[in-house]
Amino acid sequence: MTTTISCFATNVYQTGLSTDMQEVLEWIKQKAQYLGMGQPILLSTCRTYEHQKNLQERWDNGERSGIRSRPANPEDSLHVAGDDGKCRAFDLGNSDDWLGVIGPRVVGEFPTVEWGGNYINRDPNHFEKNTLVRIFSINLI
Ligand SMILES: [Zn+2]
Repeated sequence: MTTTISCFATNVYQTGLSTDMQEVLEWIKQKAQYLGMGQPILLSTCRTYEHQKNLQERWDNGERSGIRSRPANPEDSLHVAGDDGKCRAFDLGNSDDWLGVIGPRVVGEFPTVEWGGNYINRDPNHFEKNTLVRIFSINLI
């Protein structure tokens, strides 16, 4: 099921997207409009621990329709709310071409936001707020 940015898919836990990621979504919306592109299509934001685990189990059982890459462990996924009750990831359902234009611009504008299109196992629909721990670990490599 897809939906527009102004309302949320019914299968997602909607209350907890962090303020900074809401600002990223708003920036994407304005950038897309500026570039004369279609508006972002919000597929998924916050998920319960159980939903994330179910997605991963579906993938592992070969039931992959609607899932483009193996979902992270619930403990590691920023789609699952942290201790503060906020989640820090969302997935957009736009075309690969659209994502290929917007994704790099998001990373350029928000250095602490990751775009899944840059992952080794590409997940171009996915955007997430990097954490301080991860930034620190990247610096150590
Ligand atoms: Zn995602």
